[in-house]
Amino acid sequence: MHSPLTMIITLACTSGVLNLYLCVHVLMKRHHYTKIAYWFILYTGLLAIYCFASAFGLMATTMTAAKFWVTLQYVGIAFSAPIGLLFIMYYLGLKITTQRIVALLIIPCISFIMVATNDIHHFHYRIYEFDPHLGAPYIEQEIGIWYIIHGVFTFTCLLVAFLLVLFQWRETAKTYRVQLISLMCSQLIPMVTSFIYLMGVISHGIDPVPIVMLISSLLFLWSISSSRLFRIMPVTKDAIFNSINDGVIVLDEFYRLIEFNPACQKMFPQLDKSMFGKDIYEVWRMLSKDVMPFQLDTITSSYECQLELADTASYTYRVQVTLLQHSQNSKGWLIIFTDITELKMLQGKLENLAYYDELTQIYNRRAFFQQCNKEFEEAQRTSTAFSVILMDIDYFKKINDVYGHVVGDHVLVHVVEMCQSQLHHREILARYGGEEFVLALNDYTLVEGEALANRIRQHIETHPFLLNGEAISVTVSCGVAEMQEELTLYQLLNRADQALYVAKQQGRNRVQVSED
Ligand code: GH3
Ligand code: MG
Ligand code: MG
Repeated sequence: MHSPLTMIITLACTSGVLNLYLCVHVLMKRHHYTKIAYWFILYTGLLAIYCFASAFGLMATTMTAAKFWVTLQYVGIAFSAPIGLLFIMYYLGLKITTQRIVALLIIPCISFIMVATNDIHHFHYRIYEFDPHLGAPYIEQEIGIWYIIHGVFTFTCLLVAFLLVLFQWRETAKTYRVQLISLMCSQLIPMVTSFIYLMGVISHGIDPVPIVMLISSLLFLWSISSSRLFRIMPVTKDAIFNSINDGVIVLDEFYRLIEFNPACQKMFPQLDKSMFGKDIYEVWRMLSKDVMPFQLDTITSSYECQLELADTASYTYRVQVTLLQHSQNSKGWLIIFTDITELKMLQGKLENLAYYDELTQIYNRRAFFQQCNKEFEEAQRTSTAFSVILMDIDYFKKINDVYGHVVGDHVLVHVVEMCQSQLHHREILARYGGEEFVLALNDYTLVEGEALANRIRQHIETHPFLLNGEAISVTVSCGVAEMQEELTLYQLLNRADQALYVAKQQGRNRVQVSED
């Protein structure tokens, strides 16, 4: 065999081995990759078939063998271009529908059948035989009508795929451009080579494409290892940007608007691409009546703000501002708006549940101690007068028994309202137990506390609860105690409780001060 031929066969085989390696390598690791790996496996598998069949074809000594290998070669040639296109479409995040796949595979299927049955119709090759002068394996061929259709189709697939990647160039970060280079080369190299081949520069029926595919295969290998092809696709960035619920605004270093995502436009419907290049302060005035709730001075900062948006509803946002440092001399700002309205509402509800009595909406026992402790300690430190009243509804069980629990509940609310009407804002009123209430009175002496307790008691007594026109008389008994030095809050409350006990003992509907 001639040595140039041996070299061509060797190179085609090397290309085949490399494609097979890529195919098997990705196949073994497919679970680490996204679904795109399957397209790549198919694509490189087809290229491997193409290269090997082409190499074996060059070793054929009989016409039957040559035709067999060329038919096999067409599995690769015919299908690799559309599959490569689908692979690139997937890579770029374009929609791949079953219809598109089927449409792209019709011509390759026909091409394959045409080659396999060429002897019958000669539509693909008008003449396909060994070169009369050079002999096997050199081929003398004359192309038929279907060869042209197949060629145009293959060319179009390669060109479209190449252009799709090319248009992605500007949108892609530098780190991932190596992926784009290998993708573009994988389309451009066979396109240019087959063009030269068809122009007749290389003759003798030796297809040079499998040999030059060695270059694009090496580039694939490079991009898989260097920039993690399939693991991080440039399109992911766009997908994230467009699909997250948070509103994102990007500014350049001069605070000019350069990008925003769909979620942000939903938040601020006035936001428009015509605002690109405008100063954010100017943009903000068009977006909201509220003052701009963030500043652009520190590397990262977080704000919480209340914004009234287009639908005039008020929303709570967390605004996160981050300085973006692309390179030494280029920077920008990333502003992320997260809608935390629901979270805030939930937080409010939880706080309400934790601190307020559900029925009467006054402080519960836990909140009482939290609030009261502070005031108590402050009063002790500053030697300010401080008193407490414990108040218990008289014969409440009877009310429950006679009118039912629901009415009992209404009575509890009624008592609280009566009580509140006698208070200023500085007293702390809380539900201490079932039908027992506590009042912490900062800056109240015992006498003042007793007077307030009597006012409340009287007010409740003179304002019976009205149930469908029927007056249900309610009275309360109170125990009052004043803070002394060396007395804890619990001891003070205990004294008030003892006084309350005495008030009950002495006939109820009365106020008793602690004697101690
Ligand atoms: P006293 O004058 O000695 O205080 O008599 P009383 O009947 O008010 O006292 P007692 O402690 O015997 O009964 C208190 C009742 O309060 C018993 C309980 O069922 C009722 N109660 C406690 N919490 C609630 C509530 O949230 N709603 C209603 N409807 N009843 C309650
Ligand atoms: Mg009671
Ligand atoms: Mg009680």
